[in-house]
Amino acid sequence: MNLQPGIQKIKKAFQVSADVPMKQYTRFKVGGPADLLALPENRQELLAILAAAKNASVPVTVVGGGSNLLVSDQGIRGLVVVTTHLTSEIRSEKETDNSILVCADAGERLSAVCRYTVTHGLTGLEFCAGIPGTIGGAVMMNAGTASQGICKKIQYLDILDLDTLTVKILKKQDLVFTYRRVELDNHLILRIGLALTAGDPKIVQQRFAANVKHKQTTQPMHLPSAGCFFKNPDPKSSAGKLIQDAGFKGAFCGDARVSDLHANYIVNCGSATCQDILALKTRIQKAVFDRYGIMLETEVKITENGGKTDE
Ligand SMILES: Cc1cc2nc3c(=O)[nH]c(=O)nc-3n(C[C@H](O)[C@H](O)[C@H](O)COP(=O)(O)OP(=O)(O)OC[C@H]3O[C@@H](n4cnc5c(N)ncnc54)[C@H](O)[C@@H]3O)c2cc1C
Repeated sequence: MNLQPGIQKIKKAFQVSADVPMKQYTRFKVGGPADLLALPENRQELLAILAAAKNASVPVTVVGGGSNLLVSDQGIRGLVVVTTHLTSEIRSEKETDNSILVCADAGERLSAVCRYTVTHGLTGLEFCAGIPGTIGGAVMMNAGTASQGICKKIQYLDILDLDTLTVKILKKQDLVFTYRRVELDNHLILRIGLALTAGDPKIVQQRFAANVKHKQTTQPMHLPSAGCFFKNPDPKSSAGKLIQDAGFKGAFCGDARVSDLHANYIVNCGSATCQDILALKTRIQKAVFDRYGIMLETEVKITENGGKTDE
C-alpha cells in the first residue's frame, strides 16, 4: 500500500519530523529512518495525531525509551510515536496506613519514578534499580529481574485502544501478565498507578544503591544494547549461562558482539547494523539448539516489517 499520501497529510498538519534515524531513539544505537516521528506532549496532541494516522491508514509504532528495541536497518514505515514527552508530576496518595498509591504518566523515566520512591521512603520498586526506559515501557515489558516483574506492583492502568482511540481504566485484576509481557496488544499505556509500601528511606536508598552496583558490575551498562537479548527458557535456566556454555562470550559479527561480562547481552561496539545483530542472534540460537535442544526466544522487540514490533 502506498503510504505517501497519508504521510504527506500528517506532515502538513502536525509538528512531526520526517526520515528520522531510529538509532537516535534506541539504546542499541541501531535502526534506519522512521517515515514520520512525533513526540506528543499531552493526551490531546497524542489523540489528534493518532486520529489523523488512523484516517489516513498510516501504521503507528509506539516507542518509549527504546531500551528494549532493535529496529531494522530499513527503518519503520508510517508514524512512530515516542512517549517520552508524555509526562506530568509524579503523585502519591495514602490508601491505608501502610499502602501508598504512586501515579505517573507513561513517558516518565522509570529511574525518575524510582528516585521519587527513594525521596519519599516508599519500598517495592528496588528490584527496578538501574533498568533504563520509561515506566510505560516497563509495564508493557513487565520489566524486572529473573524472579520478579513490575506487574506485581500495578494497581491500575489508563490505556488507549489504538483501534477505537478510546481510553479505558484497567484494574490489576483485569490484567494478564506473563514473563516480560502483558496482554495489551494494540493499546498504548497512558498512566500507571503503582501500589507501594511506606518504608524506611535509609533502607530503601541502601537497597537501590546495592542493586545498581550489582547491575553495573555484572552487566555491560555502559555500552549500547537492548539489555538481555533472549528470554530465560524457564525460571530455573538462564539464557546467559546457555550462551556462555555454548562458547559464545566475545563472539561477534561486524560491530555486534556478545558481551564478555554477560553472555545474554549483545552490545554495539561502534557501528553495528541490525543485520549484524540478527546474524549473531541466529548463530547463537542455532548453537544453543544444537547443544541443548532449546530454541531461545528473543526478549528484545524487533521491528522488521515496519509498523509492528515482532519477536
Ligand atoms: C542496559 C540495559 C539494562 C536493562 N536491564 C533490564 C532489566 O534488568 N530488566 C528488564 O526487565 N529489562 C531490562 N532492560 C530492557 C528495558 O530497559 C526494559 O524492557 C524497559 O522497561 C523498556 O522500556 P522502554 O520505555 O525503553 O520501552 P521500549 O524499548 O521503547 O519499548 C518496548 C516495547 O514496549 C512498547 N511500549 C513502550 N512504551 C509503551 C506504552 N506507553 N504503551 C504501549 N506500549 C509501549 C513498545 O512498542 C515496545 O514493544 C535493560 C535494557 C538495557 C539497555
